[in-house]
Amino acid sequence: MRSDPREYELVAPGNLRTVVELLARSPGEWLPVAGGTDIMVQYAAGKLPSRKLVSVWNLPELRSIEVLPDEILIGAGSTYTDIREHEVIAQEFSMLARAASWTGGIANQNRGTIGGNIVNASPAADSLPALLAYDAELILVSVRGERRLPYAGFHTGYKKMRLAPDELIQTICLPRKFSGYVCRARKVGSRNAQAISKVCLAALGRVAVTAAGKTIEDARIALGSVSPVPLRLRETERMVNGEIIDALLVRRARQAAITEIKPIDDIRSTAKYRAAVAGNLVEEFLNLLADAKGVSNVLATWNLAHADTAAAQILPCCGSKRWAHEMAVLRPFNDEPALMAASDETWRNLNEVDWIEAFNSHPRIGESKGQGGTHSSDAWSRQEQKKVTEADDAVKIALADGNRAYEEKFGRIFIICATGKSASEILEILQRRLWNDVATELHEAAEQQRQITRLRLKKWLQG
Ligand SMILES: Cc1cc2nc3c(=O)[nH]c(=O)nc-3n(C[C@H](O)[C@H](O)[C@H](O)COP(=O)(O)OP(=O)(O)OC[C@H]3O[C@@H](n4cnc5c(N)ncnc54)[C@H](O)[C@@H]3O)c2cc1C
Repeated sequence: MRSDPREYELVAPGNLRTVVELLARSPGEWLPVAGGTDIMVQYAAGKLPSRKLVSVWNLPELRSIEVLPDEILIGAGSTYTDIREHEVIAQEFSMLARAASWTGGIANQNRGTIGGNIVNASPAADSLPALLAYDAELILVSVRGERRLPYAGFHTGYKKMRLAPDELIQTICLPRKFSGYVCRARKVGSRNAQAISKVCLAALGRVAVTAAGKTIEDARIALGSVSPVPLRLRETERMVNGEIIDALLVRRARQAAITEIKPIDDIRSTAKYRAAVAGNLVEEFLNLLADAKGVSNVLATWNLAHADTAAAQILPCCGSKRWAHEMAVLRPFNDEPALMAASDETWRNLNEVDWIEAFNSHPRIGESKGQGGTHSSDAWSRQEQKKVTEADDAVKIALADGNRAYEEKFGRIFIICATGKSASEILEILQRRLWNDVATELHEAAEQQRQITRLRLKKWLQG
């Protein structure tokens, strides 16, 4: 039964240090309150475990979202609105952004926090399956310092967790390693908005296309509302990882998922219904993977490489070291269009010295080795100039004369995107461009190099 509000004490120290000191003085006596969306429900039901409340709402140390090269750090006091409006979360952790967007109504999203969702520890909490699938880690803080632990295993049983009475969740860390994954987030409830999940799913996976078919390289499937704690379906994942997706595998995985969960009957649903829905959701996810375009393994691996290695690997596509370095810094890329767009933008923003470095990595038209080229760029050049090697001697001689005239006038080699062009076409273009002024020719050569880089990136992605 609800008691007189005057029997409660609420303090708001306004900084993290004072809050953890207060919690340490008499562990378990003070109850942290963030947005209060769960606490107010408990209060109304007369079920608050303490009458002493300490506010952690809007503490600057808990309410920031920091994007680092390898991970994103979400303050536990970030609200659902903070999360769903964050650009990098929306792009790279879209299942968490979606879960935030379907948690309660707008007022609830402005107030409810992700830290509160974790500690409230409802098996039906919407953000938790996404945290499981994304391999989230938690940073806990107390006067004793910070400790970092995987979110998987944090909840040990119904409403039980590895959080000491004097500790707060400070940060949720998400590794930025899921570029190129296909993801599926689904909430099944009585209606879309303002309903607690009967079952919810967060699943992501990466497939590789081989001659034998589409192989599941890494499937990560997490479900809510099907056991006392949000559940990662490790057995089902083990069954499908490394396998070629076909109808039989999907059927077996559906059955494995149903066996792995422990749903119960409650006021919102029955165990039988939940099992059937969980099976459907897993099946739907695997069918989505089966339809997915195989993500380039090259891109997925390159996204994870050390920055220097990544720059060295992509360098032959262009030839400019600054372009390669900046592309490595801009990772991760989710797909080919994103890579191409970044390549164009980076190339346009380089200066003349960088452009000329790229031009000089090519062999002259009609020759097979460039001054600054690498093994793979020389091999690509041979393919690009294939039609030139088939030309008759008169055209080859005219091209060599044209190259000499060009170098005398512009002080560097002639660059053209030769793919698909015959030697005579190239000769005609060379003779026309010899009439360009220096500035026009620089930009024309840069545009040709941009096109060459795009074609090489496509080849590079194919491995
Ligand atoms: C109308 C309504 C609709 C809802 N709909 C949904 C829904 O669709 N899906 C869903 O998942 N949830 C839903 N919820 C539940 C709720 O909004 C979430 O669980 C919310 O994330 C709780 O966050 P909070 O900041 O309000 O937590 P609070 O109520 O302030 O606290 C909840 C618990 O977390 C502890 N706590 C808070 N922050 C910390 C911290 N940093 N460190 C340690 N302990 C902490 C508190 O001590 C308390 O035990 C709904 C709630 C309401 C009232």
